[in-house]
Amino acid sequence: MADCLFCKIIQKEIPSEIIHQDDDITIFKDINPSAPVHLLVIPNKHIPSVTEMTPIDELILGKLFSGAKRAAKNMGIDKTGYRLIMNNGPDAHQEIFHIHMHLLGGGEMKHPMG
Ligand code: 5GP
Ligand code: ZN
Repeated sequence: MADCLFCKIIQKEIPSEIIHQDDDITIFKDINPSAPVHLLVIPNKHIPSVTEMTPIDELILGKLFSGAKRAAKNMGIDKTGYRLIMNNGPDAHQEIFHIHMHLLGGGEMKHPMG
């Protein structure tokens, strides 16, 4: 998608701190971190939101979880814990319409959520 910020990050047309990229997913540091570790795990395919995903996307979106699990271990937060968040639509304050999983950790978070 020509005018999508995260597609441009995947294509390296705009700079970001990419910590992992393969054929299916890209993982990079959030520019405005909400926790000591704040990564964004995204599919390389442009899917705007969960609302717009189709069954064809199930395999690739499953890879977001595998990527998050691996990244959490690499960042040393797999034992202390982490939170995976996907904001979807206006009430959840989704700002970028390219599906992304937030991986937050490195310190205790607020509970309950919301
Ligand atoms: P959303 O609110 O859509 O769930 O989250 C979008 C996230 O993208 C925010 O946490 C925001 O800080 C992050 N973000 C926005 N623009 C950029 C950017 O240019 N580079 C990076 N690395 N993160 C960004
Ligand atoms: Zn995109």
